Amino acid sequence: MGSEGNDSSERQKLRLPEIKFTRLFINGEFVDAVSGKTFETIDPRTGEALASVAEGDKEDVDLAVKAAREAFDHGRWPRMSGSERRKIMMKFADLIDRHVEELASLDCADAGKLFTHTKFLEIPQCAENIRYFAGAADKIHGETLKMSRELQGYTLREPIGVVGHIIPWNFPSTMFFFKVSPALAAGCTMVVKPAEQSPLSALYYAHLAKEAGVPDGVLNVITGFGPTAGAALSSHMDVDKISFTGSTEVGRLVMEAAAKSNLKVVSLELGGKSPLMVFDDADVDTAVELAQIAAFYNKGEICVAGSRVYVQEGIYDEFVRKSAEKAKSWKIGDPFDPQVNQGPQVDKKQFEKILSYIDLGKREGATLLTGGKPCGDKGLYIEPTIFTDVKEEMTIAKDEIFGPVMSLMKFKTIEEVIERANQTRYGLAAGIVTTDLNIANRVSRSVRAGTIWINCYMAFDRDCPFGGFKMSGFGKDIGMAGLDKYLLCKSVVTPIYNSPWL
Ligand code: NAD
Repeated sequence: MGSEGNDSSERQKLRLPEIKFTRLFINGEFVDAVSGKTFETIDPRTGEALASVAEGDKEDVDLAVKAAREAFDHGRWPRMSGSERRKIMMKFADLIDRHVEELASLDCADAGKLFTHTKFLEIPQCAENIRYFAGAADKIHGETLKMSRELQGYTLREPIGVVGHIIPWNFPSTMFFFKVSPALAAGCTMVVKPAEQSPLSALYYAHLAKEAGVPDGVLNVITGFGPTAGAALSSHMDVDKISFTGSTEVGRLVMEAAAKSNLKVVSLELGGKSPLMVFDDADVDTAVELAQIAAFYNKGEICVAGSRVYVQEGIYDEFVRKSAEKAKSWKIGDPFDPQVNQGPQVDKKQFEKILSYIDLGKREGATLLTGGKPCGDKGLYIEPTIFTDVKEEMTIAKDEIFGPVMSLMKFKTIEEVIERANQTRYGLAAGIVTTDLNIANRVSRSVRAGTIWINCYMAFDRDCPFGGFKMSGFGKDIGMAGLDKYLLCKSVVTPIYNSPWL
């Protein structure tokens, strides 16, 4: 299945990948939606359709959950030994490495991501993520309890059951494996609902999982829309847990649906408005570079974007001048071009939302230092944009824009910047640039955010738990804490001898 509008030379020019999987993956088979409906996924470089993909709805979610339930209840995965699960997961990771070129092409064409980065960093890291959790699959155990009476007891850590994973479009592969890898290691079965903007790689991963030996029904993928397929999953009576990544608004709906159905366990990885704090002692060139990566990486479509940059007054003017120069040298264009720093925004809705925030920033009185306009003849490209003279009460300083827009603000003292950094409903991440250990320690312990990066930014590691505070959600992805959320603790108690209960 491919985009009908493009002949093969045009496809080659655009480096469009062959699109092999466009149907729902249920119980180990690719199938059409019960309704027969499809939707188009769009290439943001051209605005043209990449592929028609099956549009799953409630009935399809029911079938996928039934398959996952059977696979769980019949023990096809949870009762397989940890070392067997580990071997299959290792093979899954190897298959990803083998198909990295195709997988990277899918995410780039579907979501406008940089090809080189996706191929050499993001997808290999997904394979490593599976290996990390595969290594844990045969080391999941509870504790022996020291009981206060003539009893002995121990705990078992059991898989939570059928999990629904609902994921966003900005990192289609990373988000898939942040959720699927620990859930597989824990022994859960699952239904993944990728974002409607970027469904292609998830279907490819389902195919590779089957090839690796993941039994039918363990990993199902339902492509479709949030208010239909996503809502059906989060309100399903037979789903034991929802692991959601997306906006705070939708996170609230997911939690409501869980509360109104079977009180399933929920974890939410939500939005952010993260501060990057640059102190006077920082090397300005390095700090400027870090700030631009923090704010513009992945075209600003990243939950941890360091979109509020606070710079101490001693270096503020130099920082502003150098930031403008550097942003102008940022190359925007086709994400398949290795020289390019920034590709197109994911879709028209996101593109227009970002431009309307830029307009609002100007109307609310912030100074547009650089950028602020769409660019290119076609496609959804926006210049990296920096505002100065931003006040805390302005909308651009408060709302998550999810685009390449940085608000630069000046501060005087450490107390002031801590207070301002915390003046947000979000708490996903924060960055500190300083060589002073006292400052780094004090600020990192005072800012309420799930991850603090000191003299680095977006330094993700599979061993480092990731997740927000406040309205950025709760529950961790990755790290051993990411495994815990797919496990339940069961206590088993028995008298040591001569039961007093008999
Ligand atoms: P979104 O909330 O609109 O969609 C996320 C997913 O939820 C999609 O699969 C969508 O189809 C589904 N969905 C939409 N409505 C639903 C409903 N009523 N019920 C169930 N599911 C529904 O978010 P988005 O626009 O795809 O992604 C951007 C947001 O995600 C940003 O706010 C960003 O910060 C956040 N995000 C957070 C993290 C993190 O780890 N904290 C990572 C990436 C993105």
